[in-house]
Amino acid sequence: MDCPDCGHDRTSVVDTRTGEDGTTVRRRRECKRCSFRFTTYERPEWETLQVKKRDGRIEPFDREKLRGGIERAVEKRPVDDDAVESLIEDVERELAGRETRIVSSSLVGELASERLRELDSVAYIRFVSVYKAFSDPEEFLDELDTILDDRLDETVDGSGPTDNDFPDG
Ligand SMILES: [Zn+2]
Repeated sequence: MDCPDCGHDRTSVVDTRTGEDGTTVRRRRECKRCSFRFTTYERPEWETLQVKKRDGRIEPFDREKLRGGIERAVEKRPVDDDAVESLIEDVERELAGRETRIVSSSLVGELASERLRELDSVAYIRFVSVYKAFSDPEEFLDELDTILDDRLDETVDGSGPTDNDFPDG
């Protein structure tokens, strides 16, 4: 690479660092002629969205795979195909809006579960129990508690008694 300052074609690398996500390399270079220092970044160019899995492997985003996971979660639940389809579209749109072409599998799971949660809490619990692969039962129970609390709040906000139902004295 030519020096951006003087145009000389010989530069040396003085420092190399791998980015946090492990997919970019940042190099500090120095011109051999004028000693101008500059930084270059090296990253793979993905044509399609890539998903980095928990074990570090990277594979193309697979919409059908996501659909499979969602469909298993909503089985025998009152969630129709249209809702599943638009959920997947929402997730894809969200992912497409990211600056990077590589996302973690947990982000995909997170986005899908957020939307699934609004549709059906049973389907949501089924889904997160698979994608989060809870390592300890406590975590799973915490997640359940959160859901149950939410439902309780809805009941209170909706048809539950209010202060007006119990006038003072
Ligand atoms: Zn130079």
